[in-house]
Amino acid sequence: MSETPMRVRAVVDLAALRANVRTLKARARGAQLMAVVKADAYGHGALPCARAAREAGAEWVGTALPQEALALRAAGDTGRLMCWLWTPGDPWREAVEADIDVSVSGLWALDEVTAAVRACGRPARVQLKIDTGLGRNGCQPGDWEQLVAAARAAEEAGLLRVTGIWSHFACADEPGHPSIRAQLAVFRDAVGYAERQGLRPEVRHIANSPATLTLPETHFDLVRTGVAMYGISPSPELGTPESLGLRPVMTLTASLASVKRVPGGHGVSYGHQYTTPGETTLALVPVGYADGIPRAASGTGPVLIGGKWRTVAGRVAMDQFVVDLGGDDAKPGDEAVLFGPGDHGEPTAEDWARATGTIAYEVVTRISARVPRVHVGDTASTGGTARTPRGDSGRDHDTGGTG
Ligand SMILES: *Cc1c(COP(=O)(O)O)cnc(C)c1O
Repeated sequence: MSETPMRVRAVVDLAALRANVRTLKARARGAQLMAVVKADAYGHGALPCARAAREAGAEWVGTALPQEALALRAAGDTGRLMCWLWTPGDPWREAVEADIDVSVSGLWALDEVTAAVRACGRPARVQLKIDTGLGRNGCQPGDWEQLVAAARAAEEAGLLRVTGIWSHFACADEPGHPSIRAQLAVFRDAVGYAERQGLRPEVRHIANSPATLTLPETHFDLVRTGVAMYGISPSPELGTPESLGLRPVMTLTASLASVKRVPGGHGVSYGHQYTTPGETTLALVPVGYADGIPRAASGTGPVLIGGKWRTVAGRVAMDQFVVDLGGDDAKPGDEAVLFGPGDHGEPTAEDWARATGTIAYEVVTRISARVPRVHVGDTASTGGTARTPRGDSGRDHDTGGTG
């Protein structure tokens, strides 16, 4: 038996992740690929996912926070690595010393990085970010001249190399949205200007998962894929994972903690928002909002138990929720599948997103640290890798076209 407790587990299929990386690389046709593993790889485990993505050919790994990138280096990751969400006082020097590409959106950040370079004596790899219209991080086009001039001067002084120029889309998941074309035009202008000023970026990039999948004109030198790598569709409008050639990576299962017969008219969970319509069987699923199950799933979240879709009965509590089995039999220890690839009729992360009024990105990312991750399908797998209770999840999907 594995050491993972029976209560709940998120099985993470690294073979599926590798297959998704290969699919995305094929879509990117010659552009490099950055595997985005911020937020613990959208809840899938940053280190094993980064390693699997690199094995499948990802030239780059990306994180939001410098601390996330440094943790990868500390764990032995050595390829090209970039992080982009900096706050004054962050560990610039550690990042420079660890050969991490750091994103700079403004002069304050350039000042902090050059101070770090002077302290450690090693030039930095800097990627300049232009806000082409997302309205979040990034240099405003009106300030671009000044930022490019300062970066160029620092480059000539030997303090850094501008290795990239990049941006991020607002609406790439809405095909035909007019902002896409507008952002591309601003991006091309910003890159053209920087190059005329003498900058020679190794990579120019703007595409996230939806752009990688649907907008080839946005690929430039590099695409940054997050959600699609985890086998999740960036938006229902773009299709299902299957129609996009992707395989969902995470399967969330729990073991029933209690099963009991109750009479009709029995209130269920806090607030008694559900009352049994007749004599029935109630199953207790021992996961709740502390595990990242949205409380918004109260009365709506789908769960596969005994081969049938059921719905969360009443409120999701901190540690548990209840399912009305409608008189069907089950026993403590039986498996409840909250979401997975859908092969066995279980709901998907997209189904949970629809049921709870959010996006599938959030469904997987919010699964908390209380849920053990069980990584299967690792190429380096030895006796140490725990097996999934479902016999097929460790199957290697790299070569099979059918998943
Ligand atoms: C999260 C993120 C990505 C990846 O987005 P997906 O839609 O998950 O592919 C790419 N670039 C930046 C800057 C991000 O923050």
